[in-house]
Amino acid sequence: MSKSVSTPLKVLFAPLVKVLKQRCGSDAVWAAAAPGRVNLIGDHTDYSQGFALPMGLNLYTLIVASPRRDGSDAIRILSTQEGDAILRLGCDESPMGDWTDYLRGVLTLYQRRGVQVPALDLVVGGNLPLGAGLSSSASLELCFAALIEAITGHELPVKERALLCQQAEHEFAGVPCGILDQFAVSFAKENTAMLLDCREQSIESIELPSHVRIAIVDSGVRHALADGGYAERRAQVEEAQEVLGKSLRDTHPETLSLLSDATIKKRAQHVVTENNRVQLFVAALGKGDIATAGELMYASHESLSRDFAVSCLELDTLVDAARDAGAIGARMTGGGFGGSMVAFVAHDKAKVFEMSITERFKAAGYGEPVIRWISAASGAQAWNWT
Ligand code: ADP
Ligand code: MG
Repeated sequence: MSKSVSTPLKVLFAPLVKVLKQRCGSDAVWAAAAPGRVNLIGDHTDYSQGFALPMGLNLYTLIVASPRRDGSDAIRILSTQEGDAILRLGCDESPMGDWTDYLRGVLTLYQRRGVQVPALDLVVGGNLPLGAGLSSSASLELCFAALIEAITGHELPVKERALLCQQAEHEFAGVPCGILDQFAVSFAKENTAMLLDCREQSIESIELPSHVRIAIVDSGVRHALADGGYAERRAQVEEAQEVLGKSLRDTHPETLSLLSDATIKKRAQHVVTENNRVQLFVAALGKGDIATAGELMYASHESLSRDFAVSCLELDTLVDAARDAGAIGARMTGGGFGGSMVAFVAHDKAKVFEMSITERFKAAGYGEPVIRWISAASGAQAWNWT
């Protein structure tokens, strides 16, 4: 637990503290924050033991908490974005098919480890958009996990905490995700990206270029990952690996001709080339070759759109517009089927970028895009709030 909450975070916590006071009559005693994540390159590679390059995002899930004052033996959850809920203590929870499943999963898995969580009032909120490909689900899980650990004093090693949250997402939200999101939200550091090796479950810090601005543009398209597209892609990748008899991480592009099913071959083609692009991207950043890094982002988008078929017209429009506006690189980020684009933009092109993206998106009939200039933030943590 680090000592004090930064001033920008204090400002974000203020409305939650107010809700806790107004609705429960309590002062906040604990607080937790978890960033979102933006994946710079390497999507749909994590569940076949490949590589990805995420960074923490300075948009957050927040929770404030106090001991429950009314004698009830349960957790009461108030949300500034969704409906309220009650979580029972001392027994396994079951999925309810709503946003609280992420919390039910995390709570249940800590309790199964013998951690005794007391009765609490919680307020959940923040400024991270939900379902926008920025991993609000992992952020919510890790925010709650950090809070539980701060309250109970039962601190897990960071990797174990991330894996517990991944399991919560599998078991309670029904999303068979890899480790990308939970690792990124856990290990994130300011000003750096993380080269994630999903086989080794290891992370190497990668310095971000200082003279580039990073934009996130929300397509506004929401597609719940539990809807099946994600699970189908995962099954297709597994089928490819079964036919080839090895992990796609260890597969050379030439051997993909062994795959007779055209769709499976395209999915595998994406994963194999994407792993390679992550390596090339990191090498390019290391050399300060931003132009090459940017081209790899465009190539990654093309591959996700054409071969992996997880983009959508709105995202394709944004990426085309970014290229035409002179962005260094741009691609969809996250699981896809909607969500956000990430772009590298030179400082002197930022205004043109904003104007062109807005114009093109509106002209296509998609409304006003939400453009955010973001930076790399540190991972989930919790504090005593006093
Ligand atoms: P992503 O992780 O890309 O944002 P997901 O579909 O995996 O998209 O998770 C989004 C879901 O997570 C939301 O629909 C909601 O159920 C839940 N969620 C995440 N953060 C919050 C929050 N702060 N408050 C309520 N629900 C949240
Ligand atoms: Mg998610």
